[in-house]
Amino acid sequence: MTVSTEFSSKYFSLISLAEGVWAALSIPGTGSWSNAGIIDMGDQTIIFDAFATPTAAQDLRIAAEKLTGRQATIVLNSHYHLDHVSGNQVFQDVPIMSTKLTREQIAIQQPRLIEIFKNNPEYLDQVKAELEQEESYQKRQELEDLLGEYSMILKDTERFKLTLPTITFEDTITLNGARMYAEFTTYGGGHTCSDSFLYLPKEQVIFLADLMHIGYHADFRQGNVDQWINILERVKKLKIKTIVSGHGGIGTAEELDKMIDYLNTLKQISVDWVQHEGTIENIDEIDIPKRYASYGAPSIFHYNIKSLLEKGI
Ligand SMILES: [Zn+2]
Repeated sequence: MTVSTEFSSKYFSLISLAEGVWAALSIPGTGSWSNAGIIDMGDQTIIFDAFATPTAAQDLRIAAEKLTGRQATIVLNSHYHLDHVSGNQVFQDVPIMSTKLTREQIAIQQPRLIEIFKNNPEYLDQVKAELEQEESYQKRQELEDLLGEYSMILKDTERFKLTLPTITFEDTITLNGARMYAEFTTYGGGHTCSDSFLYLPKEQVIFLADLMHIGYHADFRQGNVDQWINILERVKKLKIKTIVSGHGGIGTAEELDKMIDYLNTLKQISVDWVQHEGTIENIDEIDIPKRYASYGAPSIFHYNIKSLLEKGI
């Protein structure tokens, strides 16, 4: 695993994971907002996820061309969240693939969210005001990063063009290249209603998108925590050397147990809270467990607990 020096971007760092396999790790606050991947199959180039802005995605496209010596041949969308698919338009001449559900959700959510950004530029001032008041290091970092991502999205709002996946699949699809093959698969939804991942069996590399967070709180408000755990238990059966997260860094198969533990811990905290007659109104009194104290995006922790309490756990 080495940092690639063949292309340098202000939006992401390129990490070489195996021959022809690179992770494009987001530099927080720059408009990329999530991790992506580039895979050189020998005769085709796969792009896994497309960042939060066309500006960052443009660099991803150029990086892929530099690294693989050819244009991107297919783009994969892991799930519908804006931070993974808003760069799609940069690849509008390339086939884009997702599950049917993900495509449907992009069509609904993407225009709605872009309108919200367009109509509420003052939101940036609110985040700035919050930042001035905030004392906790983790929360300041979260707000600073959000400010960066939102500013970049706002800059791009006028050029945003809804670009939907052109090919949909149900369970799994195998992409066969001259040098290697890749499996694009969904085990259903956990983080959202539909989450897909890219697995390279020979290289034992998996791009899990937001099914995996490393060093960051993972958001399950729009998904289902139990299904998420089930998905990760199934993923554990695959031979894996390297995991690329959707937010955070790169890890080994051990990260799967850590992620499952995180989800189970939050469930347990919520159960205990209700048993001790805690209410939704005072969940801020719940401390983040020490082993997650250094995690980024700490607000997500309490949002998650709130959603579990609202759903009756
Ligand atoms: Zn997501």
